[in-house]
Amino acid sequence: SLRLDAVTVRFGRRTALDAVDLDVAEHEIVCVLGPSGSGKSTLLRTVAGLTEPDAGRVLLAGRDQRGVAPHRRGVGLMFQDHQLFPTRDVGGNVAFGPRMRGETRARAEERVAELLELVGLPGAQRRPVAALSGGEQQRVALARALAPSPGLLMLDEPLGQLDRSLRERLVVELRQLFRRLGTTVLAVTHDQGEAFALADRVVVMEAGRIAQTGSPVDVWLRPASEFVARFLGFTN
Ligand code: ATP
Ligand code: MG
Repeated sequence: SLRLDAVTVRFGRRTALDAVDLDVAEHEIVCVLGPSGSGKSTLLRTVAGLTEPDAGRVLLAGRDQRGVAPHRRGVGLMFQDHQLFPTRDVGGNVAFGPRMRGETRARAEERVAELLELVGLPGAQRRPVAALSGGEQQRVALARALAPSPGLLMLDEPLGQLDRSLRERLVVELRQLFRRLGTTVLAVTHDQGEAFALADRVVVMEAGRIAQTGSPVDVWLRPASEFVARFLGFTN
């Protein structure tokens, strides 16, 4: 589980996150929506430990993360530009995580096979990543993010580069996959349809603050403010 307790992040004079409180329960899938510059990526980076808060606390499984290095937080992070290693094959990309944590070669290979099945690319270990479609690369990046079985998986515009029809298909698959694995997910998107299809709960951000949080249906039917109503309308 994740808790943000009055987290503030400033860049010079700009306040990217303004005393944000947020709880994500075990196994919950939460999607963060909001206009460009509203603080979505900063939120994820702060939870991941790539940005330290100026005030407030980040708790993972009840523990204050101040001073805890990113790779020790037990979180997986996948960015929009998924940055696969172009010179490694699919297996090499996915195994990057497990091998780094000192698993045996045999165990890592087993794990890679499992993960590729999970993301719908069984047997793709030896394929060069450069020869994969955008959607397939996205799946490889996801398999890599899932490799260490993170307690919290964070996705920043995970399907951003893909065309709409592929995104719509993948998002349904992702939800099923996360449900099956019981993964706790905090995902950022600016696509409202994507958020509503993926999430148990959505968080709408406005200028570094949470404008509203609730189930997709709730937010859709009862926007809490003019801003939320307009944001939903504009991006529809
Ligand atoms: P987008 O939808 O465009 O990705 P976002 O909601 O992810 O936007 P953030 O990247 O979190 O927005 O940025 C929030 C604010 O903080 C913006 O005003 C941005 O310019 C600023 N900001 C983010 N990172 C930095 C940084 N490293 N240095 C200075 N300002 C930053
Ligand atoms: Mg962003």
